[in-house]
Amino acid sequence: MEAEAIFSVINRKSQLERLQTKKFDLAIIGGGVTGAGIALDAASRGLSVCLIEKNDFASGTSNKSTKLIHGGLRYLKQFEIGLVRESGSERAIVHKLAPHLVIPEKMLLPLVEGGTYGKMMTSIGLKVYDFLADVKGDDRRRMLDKEETTSKEPLLDESVVLGGGLYAEYRTDDARLTTEILKKAASFGATIINYCEMESFNYNNSSKIESLNCIDYNTSSKIVIKANNYVSATGPWVDLLRKKDHSMNNKYLHLTKGVHIVFPYDKLPVKQPLYFDVPDGRMIFAIPRGRVTYVGTTDTNYNGNLERVVATTDDANYILNAINDTFSKVNLSIDDIESNWAGLRPLIHEEDKDPSELSRKDELFISDSGLISIAGGKLTGYRKMAHRVIDAVLKNMDNDTKSNLKESYTKTISLVSPSLKSTKEVNAYQSSIEKQLVNIDIKDTYHAWYMCTTYGKQTDIIIEKASTFDNADALECLIRAELWFCIHHEMSNSLTDFFVRRTGRLYFNILSVKKHLDIVLDDSKNYLNWDNNRVNSEKEKLELLIQDATTYYTKEFK
Ligand SMILES: Cc1cc2nc3c(=O)[nH]c(=O)nc-3n(C[C@H](O)[C@H](O)[C@H](O)COP(=O)(O)OP(=O)(O)OC[C@H]3O[C@@H](n4cnc5c(N)ncnc54)[C@H](O)[C@@H]3O)c2cc1C
Repeated sequence: MEAEAIFSVINRKSQLERLQTKKFDLAIIGGGVTGAGIALDAASRGLSVCLIEKNDFASGTSNKSTKLIHGGLRYLKQFEIGLVRESGSERAIVHKLAPHLVIPEKMLLPLVEGGTYGKMMTSIGLKVYDFLADVKGDDRRRMLDKEETTSKEPLLDESVVLGGGLYAEYRTDDARLTTEILKKAASFGATIINYCEMESFNYNNSSKIESLNCIDYNTSSKIVIKANNYVSATGPWVDLLRKKDHSMNNKYLHLTKGVHIVFPYDKLPVKQPLYFDVPDGRMIFAIPRGRVTYVGTTDTNYNGNLERVVATTDDANYILNAINDTFSKVNLSIDDIESNWAGLRPLIHEEDKDPSELSRKDELFISDSGLISIAGGKLTGYRKMAHRVIDAVLKNMDNDTKSNLKESYTKTISLVSPSLKSTKEVNAYQSSIEKQLVNIDIKDTYHAWYMCTTYGKQTDIIIEKASTFDNADALECLIRAELWFCIHHEMSNSLTDFFVRRTGRLYFNILSVKKHLDIVLDDSKNYLNWDNNRVNSEKEKLELLIQDATTYYTKEFK
């Protein structure tokens, strides 16, 4: 069966039926990148799998990252060699699996007077970074002198720059990556559904979990899911589930908040991605992306509301000060910010450590009831984390079942079908899309870039669909076709799913959300049979997210 047919909101009823009638080898709770990776690894090996997500896929941390597939240069300073080696090596693999979505970028690390690293340390650090990740040829780090550094990035302050290091990283879109992994898992037979929350566990006489009590928010119905193994990949919510399972031990989560702020590109026209010093000794990223530049992140302890994580004026000022300090040719204020996002790192607590010192390593907690929880980790390591979880699951299986399973081979499973194989193919494809869009009167090349980096070769399907609409404005035809695609092929189930997770418009093109809201609402109503109550609640949900993405609060919500 085609993945597309399975991963459609229109077929939700049959998904729900399957969830309730089948007993699965594995039930996964949580539809962020970690749960998605586990679903793909398990389903492609031959296990029967279901995954439930209480909100939308990637609505938790997996939509709030810095959106880099990176080794984590700064973890070298903490001697996290294993972590850097693993994530460093994963970068090139994940790039090959979706080259339109995991895009190589050279990162500039400027060296300044009084900065965190000297020339020698940076040179050695970057060399070790390349060595651990087995980076080859032109991708290896290059040290730059002052002139080369300021010509790479003219916004830097010439009076303090001493030189720089240029090294390889990859940029991605975390929510799109999660969605594509889930679609692929569905194509291997996984039953995957959003807006379905695990409320409580049922246990057998031996105190092992025997089923999950869940609520489906679309139909307001209670359902019971049965499986032989249960994994919680619930990120910041991991401890809440462990408490429900009465399986907390001396290890627990330490949540830290990270904020990014977004500017129209012309307000902060950096020529390329940078990793630069903040006066307090931390480092942050500035990353140009389409029509914007985004900058982050903060890293502060968090005890607020898990369901509503927002940026404060302190967060915005911290990043603004760092920008104005580093890029002497701009003077940005809070009014220049277009949007923001704030997310939580589900890290493991370590006594007496500051947020930035906490390890980013993932860890498994296996309870006596059989619940396998995974916390910590990075977007970048999603494949390896999935291996570790499935290895733990297999320990519970008899040899007969195990002998019928394949070894993990996600290293070779292209995430998007039809797939583009390399950056060269992506660039050629993008040029052909540019021409096609010009033919339908969309002349700004931004749109070809946006379509290709968002949907890859699936853009063909969307452009073909756009030709069936007759709006006078070609961009309206295109967004209607995007909506149709996301509903019928990507389980987009609400206005926020579409504007935030499937298309990234809330963060990267917020003006387009306001401009196209009515047309998207009209079509959604028709496809999904929304009544007036649903329309009103959809509008309210979206308005709240727009408010949070454009407001700087005095304090966090409790
Ligand atoms: C500011 C910041 C920057 C980062 N930058 C990077 C980066 O550049 N590169 C990188 O590799 N990593 C980065 N990370 C780390 C990375 O984003 C996370 O490791 C990853 O997204 C965690 O994914 P997850 O699936 O474990 O958690 P989540 O994405 O939070 O997913 C958990 C899901 O579980 C669902 N859930 C919870 N309870 C239930 C329930 N009862 N029933 C059903 N569903 C439930 C939630 O709704 C949520 O969607 C960053 C993190 C932060 C916060």
